[in-house]
Amino acid sequence: MKTETIEILCCPVCRGDLVLTAFKTMETEGKTTDIITGVLRCDACGINYPIAEGIPNLLPQEKKLDQ
Ligand SMILES: [Zn+2]
Repeated sequence: MKTETIEILCCPVCRGDLVLTAFKTMETEGKTTDIITGVLRCDACGINYPIAEGIPNLLPQEKKLDQ
């Protein structure tokens, strides 16, 4: 996913903003950056949504008590 995509994504549970943490990125043509793996976090819900192979998984996740 492109870094710009974060602006149109929101938490599927509370519709709040997501905070991006990118683990692996790839520069593409122009000034865009592709996020290959990372995490989208909703602070309000305390839920992390994983990004794998460039695809964000915004299905509701189990809350993780250790975070
Ligand atoms: Zn949320």
